[in-house]
Amino acid sequence: MDKIIKTIAENGAFRAYVLDSSQTVRVAQEKHQTQASSTVALGRTLIASQILAANEKGPTKLTLKVLGQSSIGAIITVADSQGRVKGYVQNPGVDIKKTATGEVLVGPFVGQGEFLVITDYGTGTPYHSMTPLISGEIGEDLAFYLTESQQTPSAVGLNVLLDQEDKVQVAGGFLLQVLPGAKEEDIARFEKRIESMPSISSLLASEDHIEALLAAIYGDEPYKRLAEEELRFECDCSKERFMNALASLPQADLEEMKEQDKGAEIICQFCQTTYNFDENDLEELIRDKS
Ligand SMILES: [Zn+2]
Repeated sequence: MDKIIKTIAENGAFRAYVLDSSQTVRVAQEKHQTQASSTVALGRTLIASQILAANEKGPTKLTLKVLGQSSIGAIITVADSQGRVKGYVQNPGVDIKKTATGEVLVGPFVGQGEFLVITDYGTGTPYHSMTPLISGEIGEDLAFYLTESQQTPSAVGLNVLLDQEDKVQVAGGFLLQVLPGAKEEDIARFEKRIESMPSISSLLASEDHIEALLAAIYGDEPYKRLAEEELRFECDCSKERFMNALASLPQADLEEMKEQDKGAEIICQFCQTTYNFDENDLEELIRDKS
């Protein structure tokens, strides 16, 4: 089971989240049959939305759209404050690696564009906030977004490591934020530690990457564990939900589907589940309209 651990430095100057998102990204890869670059890009975006959702208090639905203009296309994810996340990538088939090292390339194939966050507190008026993509590597884009839009100095590390067959080996990350009231010397000390931190990839490759991340972030600085919460890939789609979507179509379209196609098929973009509607379902919708 994936998890996020929320921590705070004992002196109150910083807080940090560390995440294991391996199963989340594995499920996303299986559902969408993504190739290497698309797997890593979608995975990093899923982790970014888990971090953003963890930052919210109370029931919240948070949509993250990475709207890049290169071959991977748009990446759309939705996370909630109960640890659920779902998402898809417009082009699941991008697979580009450096010949020399086998490193999976992401940023250039996400490209330039926008990092758009839509936060819905259930009040009926979602809040939109947007920053430009800095590198298309997602982690840097998230750090820039947090620093710009929330005015909170933030360090972010997140990644997805693949095995020899390009299956998800491990995925996760961290968020470190300076809290109001942090002293200059606290900030300088932490900046130094972040600079000397091993790469996120080598930390994720550790046997217990959650503990490796915490050790790298805090060193011998005392900290408290505030909470540990489960994370998972889960889609909230249902036949009833798509039935409601069909109900909004004009009657003539529903009649055409019933007479000519003898039914309708809808595939959920977020989880690839197929829902079939037969002539009786369509008849019911037509009856409700007249
Ligand atoms: Zn679904």
